[in-house]
Amino acid sequence: MPSKKSKRKRAERPTIHPKNKYADNPPDFALLASLYPSFTPFVWYTGDGRARIDWTDFNATRELTRVLLLHDHGLNWWIPDGQLCPTVPNRSNYIHWIQDLVSSDIIPKNNTNEKIVRGFDIGTGTNCIYPLLGASLLGWSFVGSDVTDIAVDWAERNVKSNPHVAELIEIRRVQCCHGTLSVEGSHCRESGNGESKVDKSGSVTDEAKPSPSPSFTLKTDLNRNYSGPPVLLGVVRDGEKFDFCMCNPPFFDSMEEAGLNPKTSCGGTPEEMVCPGGENAFISRIIEDSVVLKETFRWYTSMVGRKIILKFLTSKLREMGVTVVKTTEFVQGQTCRWGLAWSFVPPARKIVFPHATEKSNLSFTLEGLQRQFGAIHVLQSIESFFRTFGASCVMNTCLFTVNITASYDQCNAVLKNEATYLKEDASFNTMENISCGSSPHFSLNSLSFQISVFQQIPGTLLVKASLQLRDSTVSGMFSLMVQQLEEILRHKFCKSKAGSN
Ligand code: SAH
Repeated sequence: MPSKKSKRKRAERPTIHPKNKYADNPPDFALLASLYPSFTPFVWYTGDGRARIDWTDFNATRELTRVLLLHDHGLNWWIPDGQLCPTVPNRSNYIHWIQDLVSSDIIPKNNTNEKIVRGFDIGTGTNCIYPLLGASLLGWSFVGSDVTDIAVDWAERNVKSNPHVAELIEIRRVQCCHGTLSVEGSHCRESGNGESKVDKSGSVTDEAKPSPSPSFTLKTDLNRNYSGPPVLLGVVRDGEKFDFCMCNPPFFDSMEEAGLNPKTSCGGTPEEMVCPGGENAFISRIIEDSVVLKETFRWYTSMVGRKIILKFLTSKLREMGVTVVKTTEFVQGQTCRWGLAWSFVPPARKIVFPHATEKSNLSFTLEGLQRQFGAIHVLQSIESFFRTFGASCVMNTCLFTVNITASYDQCNAVLKNEATYLKEDASFNTMENISCGSSPHFSLNSLSFQISVFQQIPGTLLVKASLQLRDSTVSGMFSLMVQQLEEILRHKFCKSKAGSN
């Protein structure tokens, strides 16, 4: 059972983009049931009169999506049984994040006179949800691509059912080279791709995707290459220009990995959910294609299902010479998804890495500390962890602080460490280089930050991190470094290791 504290923490986390139609007005099941008789049989009422639907019933979730698209967006929509059923509030979050990106001045606006924002939805699915939402909410035009006949046929059908936006949307079939679309299984199973739903009370519940595994249990092979049909290269035509691409990728390496969540049902066929190498391989292919296509797109974006993959891909992007990387977190009930965006357009102002303009003070708590560990152990562990990667560390045992200075390469090494720290010896390093009050040396090319450890109550520590030099060229790596540290400390010291974040 989650503690009051963790419930509070979750409640404080942003769950919905402020521009999202449902941010202040979550779907009202009772109202929808009264307006749409086809939805009525799926709604039931709790003892205190609250309207609910059965999330384990695919027909109920599909009907909810249908009536929401009709009622709130004026869209006619349907998908065949078993196909991935999107949730409108969550899909809208991604659209609004892209809206922020394309309207921001991080990279210069297009010089062309094109007034309409043009997007490319990689893998639009039978549901064609992103083009339909983007066109109806914001008047954007889209190319929506897909590889399967059923997706292309139904996406086209969904577009044609909406003459007011049909002109804005082109569905493009990706030619599938023989033998390249190899996915496990052949029939629909009731499983989802990790969505969450906002219920009438505004709380978000997880759809079928299993919670992202904490990085220390993940066995994903980060080196597997994508071997499927073309993604962007070979699909984008000569001379075409887009403001952005977006993608809700097939997240899993196999249907077994996708798993089944008996609590929810949002459909999802192997073709929609699985690709060899999973999301890492698929998004890596988008990155590789983007290196060739460069400024054909102002922004390349993708959803990412797991934090470890986000970190891996962010590092990969840096190596590819992109000019800007941005990330965001989409909190969805107990699971999180991330948005990853990058560009090859030279930035208008100097923001290179994610979070560069974000907080210079971050903190997290370590709860449920194992009895034998105290603040000093955590402090020593922080010092020895960063030292392992060659960072310079000055520990102050009087103030319970460690000052860390790490070069760009050392930061990268820390961020790529997800797999290796598991093998680290659990014993603590001896107290070396301990001083009381050395003054740190800052450099514009390195990341300098101070970590302080405070005892809150027995068994709970507060760890604070403060960035020493915001203008450093690598300051954008600060929050990733702190996230990484949090995971490592949780894994090493806390009884309940899954509570990361
Ligand atoms: N965008 C929809 C569907 C996502 S499921 C949504 O958010 O609900 C992923 C989709 O990607 C599937 O429809 C699958 O057929 C498609 N897909 C897989 N490989 C692809 C490729 N190489 N190019 C285009 N689409 C692809």
